[in-house]
Amino acid sequence: MTPLAQVLAARIRAHGPMSLADYMAECLLHPVHGYYTTQNPFGTAGDFITAPEISQMFGELLGLCLAQAWVDQGAPDPFTLAELGPGRGTLMADILRATKCVPGFHAAMRVVLVEASPRLRAVQAQALQAFAPVWVGSLQDLPPHPLFVIANEFFDALPIRQFQRAGLGWRERLVGLTGDVLAFGLGPVVPIAGLKDRLDDTGEGQIIELCPAAPAVMAEMSARMAQKGAALVIDYGGWQSLGDTFQAVQGHHAVDPFANPGQADLTAHVDFAALAQAARPLAHAYTTQGALLSALGIAQRSERLAQNLSGAALDSHLVATQRLTSHDEMGSLFKVLALHPAHHPAPPGSV
Ligand code: SAH
Repeated sequence: MTPLAQVLAARIRAHGPMSLADYMAECLLHPVHGYYTTQNPFGTAGDFITAPEISQMFGELLGLCLAQAWVDQGAPDPFTLAELGPGRGTLMADILRATKCVPGFHAAMRVVLVEASPRLRAVQAQALQAFAPVWVGSLQDLPPHPLFVIANEFFDALPIRQFQRAGLGWRERLVGLTGDVLAFGLGPVVPIAGLKDRLDDTGEGQIIELCPAAPAVMAEMSARMAQKGAALVIDYGGWQSLGDTFQAVQGHHAVDPFANPGQADLTAHVDFAALAQAARPLAHAYTTQGALLSALGIAQRSERLAQNLSGAALDSHLVATQRLTSHDEMGSLFKVLALHPAHHPAPPGSV
């Protein structure tokens, strides 16, 4: 049993089963035993690899996309350039390198990083020291300026609750104990107001996921983008939640999410329809990672970088390009929600 499993088992014995959202929150961000507070998740030696860690092209192209949106909106000064969940800081470092050539962009920007993990804040500080970033724990603390923001694999880490259809109501899937072992159980049948419109398209026993923290995040974002701003939200998921997508990954393999709490990454697919709805009155465009990167010119950028490479470095560059864009790899599984005020055009490439 991990130390966190002991903490959670004691809590369940004292107070009864907990929601999956509470379980995820403890596993990911417990101040002493949490996954993001203690582990080194990224890269081949870690548990998973994210798009910016695969190739510099990801951050370069998305950074220039945000910069073009900033230019299209009259180059507001000052503005906030923010990232939600910056990991090792690689994506922001690539964005900042690529946008150096955009006149006025760096002079007008204030770089703000939304990061909960003190350990990862220290890693980000190293990667981005030349740009004097400021850290905040939540979007509430973002400055009031126009907001240009990116979030890659952030929303999949936000805790979800799961509900199983039972007649005209729902039973919440709760984390309890079978003997001494953490296991799923079911709560009583209750009506859930937020799931009323899902009675038509679900059958008995089907599971729907809700991310309780997401609407507040989107509302804060939307408030700062009311006049000017743009957001690129990239993640795996679909347009509407249906089915159990809760998963644990450790050492690049799927593992039992209850086996080693605090030592595996826990995620769920992102419900982009729920994000778009919570961001109203912002307008949105919805596309795939592959389509957006292609529209932004990844083929040309890849060719240009390839000119200076040979041998194994060239091979891995070509594999990385494929991995980011191919239909069979990240290209279709990963979606992009681009948000913008309705009176400004959508960020380039997103429609
Ligand atoms: N965007 C990065 C890392 C994704 S991993 C990349 O593409 O490589 C998820 C990131 O979100 C980590 O930095 C994690 O510490 C952070 N995070 C997770 N939950 C958070 C929360 N509730 N508030 C702020 N940051 C959070």
